[in-house]
Amino acid sequence: MNNSKSSSALSTPRFCNTGTFMRMPRMNDVDNPDFVIFGIPFDTASSYRSGARFGPSGIRSISAMMKPNNVIMGVNILEELKGADYGDVNVTPGYILPTYDAIERELQPIVDAGIIPIGLGGDHSVTLAEMRAVAKKYGPLSMVHFDSHADINDEVFGQKYNHGTPFRRSIEEGIVDPSRSIQIGMRGSLYDPNEHRIAEDELGYRLIPAHKVFDMGFDAVVKEIKDRVGNHPVFLTFDIDFVDPAYAPGTGTPEVGGFTSRETLSLLRALKDLNFVAFDVVEVAPAYDHGEITSYMAANICFEYISMLALKKKERTL
Ligand code: MN
Ligand code: MN
Repeated sequence: MNNSKSSSALSTPRFCNTGTFMRMPRMNDVDNPDFVIFGIPFDTASSYRSGARFGPSGIRSISAMMKPNNVIMGVNILEELKGADYGDVNVTPGYILPTYDAIERELQPIVDAGIIPIGLGGDHSVTLAEMRAVAKKYGPLSMVHFDSHADINDEVFGQKYNHGTPFRRSIEEGIVDPSRSIQIGMRGSLYDPNEHRIAEDELGYRLIPAHKVFDMGFDAVVKEIKDRVGNHPVFLTFDIDFVDPAYAPGTGTPEVGGFTSRETLSLLRALKDLNFVAFDVVEVAPAYDHGEITSYMAANICFEYISMLALKKKERTL
């Protein structure tokens, strides 16, 4: 297949020619794509269940189900945008520093070319390296972070780089501006009862835990995200454990009391006006999944990302 469109399931069955996201062409076959999907199959930094190394292949496999029209957003992603699948970053299992180097090295030319990267994790440690590459082009980023965990530990198992530490490191490295960033959906039992307070008072983030999201209502939360971020370049990072394990069981550290798939998708759609420069979805562990529902949720999250980009393009050209 040597064009910029996915093949239509009306002419070729969607279980044929799988292996790329939505059966999109490989990156080498597309000139100047608007966005690329790339996998980061690394799960060495998981603190409990590993298996997110199979996240990218799980998400790509079920993404064959996706069709190009986002009816609610009123946009056909393949008519507005050229997309491609980069394949996977050449990670080093068991070794986080060489993996970080590989992520930065492989992502940088994509980002520098003005292409929007959409990363498929991998555990959440990978986001730090993605952010390094993205911040090199755009400067300190706004982070919109959906997760049931704040991921702001200083160390886990005595290690600075772990899936529980990236959003403290990102501030230390100056690649995220906490005053323009927000964390949403945190919940579950904690070692440090002050963790959410630390995120706000010591690190300078705004953090809205899950129970407060339900108290405030979704419209108020969306307004707070928009006010916080403004028109600043945004990295949206989505840990699949934001979604309730009833809807997304295939993940390393699930927390009950979360969000439905419908609530999640409408939250994302409401952010369509933000100035997104990068996205990822992380922590999908297919071995703990049932009926591929977690992978399918992640594929749909990516579809909403792409739809937001497509809508912007459409509105620009109208
Ligand atoms: Mn996380
Ligand atoms: Mn998490």
